[in-house]
Amino acid sequence: MIVVIAIDALEYNLVEKFNYKNLKQEKYGKTDISEFSQPRTMVLWSSFMTGENKENEILALGDKKMWNYQIDIKDTFFSKFKNPKVIDLPGFSYDLDEHKKERELLKAFFEAKTQEEKEKIKKEYNQRSLEHHKKIKNEFEKAIKGEHDFVLGYFSAIDVIGHLNFGNKILMKMLYKDMDELAKKVRTLGYPVLILSDHGMKAIGNFGDHSEYGFWSVNFETNLKNPKITDFKNLILDVMKEKDKEFK
Ligand SMILES: [Zn+2]
Repeated sequence: MIVVIAIDALEYNLVEKFNYKNLKQEKYGKTDISEFSQPRTMVLWSSFMTGENKENEILALGDKKMWNYQIDIKDTFFSKFKNPKVIDLPGFSYDLDEHKKERELLKAFFEAKTQEEKEKIKKEYNQRSLEHHKKIKNEFEKAIKGEHDFVLGYFSAIDVIGHLNFGNKILMKMLYKDMDELAKKVRTLGYPVLILSDHGMKAIGNFGDHSEYGFWSVNFETNLKNPKITDFKNLILDVMKEKDKEFK
């Protein structure tokens, strides 16, 4: 099995600051996403799974239709595996209803007139995202105990909650710690593990906005330096081929 923990908006500088060793693994760094005009979630994950820059294709859909974009498995590297499990990934197996509701609450927050109203919406927004996070985590923990040869879990809470709470260092640290503990559990299984974010996050007052690089880490040997998000397709397929050799 090869495992990918896909963490939306995991910020390199915060992983460094909190020094979470299971997120950093044996080798880690920033990804280079400078080929993209903006750090857009849907564009970046779609480019990751196909190994191709999908920006023009997705931007042509317009802002509203962008989130419904879905790539056929045959156009992704997941199809090279016999029994892959890809959980909640934007552009592939995304829970569209859940993420639509989160975006609606985000919009309502910025449109709310009073501070009281904003606080109420923020609470609902955070709770909703945490509930979804728990659900995905359960699904992921089940999958890594199963018969799959590839498992990817996509975790959005750090991005979703970060947008409204990036200035809340206690809350952000709690979310990073939760992912570090999940990474620890996965790492003890002994499989090759890639931890990847699409982009990071920077502070805009108390809010968070996407930063112009992502994060990556692995628990195996690789010559990758300053990789692009489209480089991970071949990295994973190379690891897959190596593993196949071991069993022959
Ligand atoms: Zn994102």
